[in-house]
Amino acid sequence: MEFKDSLILHRSDHAKLLSDIDRRWITFHCEKCNTVLGDGLSVCGEVQTMGCILFMKVTKAVVISDKKETEQKGDLTHCIYSFLSCRCCRSFVGRIIHSAPARLSNCRSMFLLHKANISCYLLNSSSMVKATSISFEVNPLRESMKEMRHKFQAMYTQMSRFKEELAHGTVLSSASSN
Ligand SMILES: [Zn+2]
Repeated sequence: MEFKDSLILHRSDHAKLLSDIDRRWITFHCEKCNTVLGDGLSVCGEVQTMGCILFMKVTKAVVISDKKETEQKGDLTHCIYSFLSCRCCRSFVGRIIHSAPARLSNCRSMFLLHKANISCYLLNSSSMVKATSISFEVNPLRESMKEMRHKFQAMYTQMSRFKEELAHGTVLSSASSN
């Protein structure tokens, strides 16, 4: 029985990666009232230290507080930000950073939705999961470029080989022999 419990816990804690999920088919909801707050195509990454997902844009259901906040210590030291809340249930869902020091430059003018207050609906599997069960880390641009270069090189090699085979008539002869 003990083994069974630990197995179930292990499975529910297993984090999915954003790269394993089709971004087009994921929506983000208020954890309390399920109002839609954003979609997968607007996600730019994650700030793990703050437990937040970075969004370029959110839906009109996200209300930006008029009040500007600052902090003298913690993750948001020297930042100017406003709280974000859900229009329907008024609960806190995150922050928008108006101004940030260099260490948080990627967060400037971004919507930071707090993972603990967000659920995700995965259209492909018709399932609602906690945002905390998904990793929204995105590959740094350099790694993505390297990956693309490898793909293009492989395509180029394949096309060159095909061109050579065409020139030597090997493609035609193998096609005609079938
Ligand atoms: Zn709500």
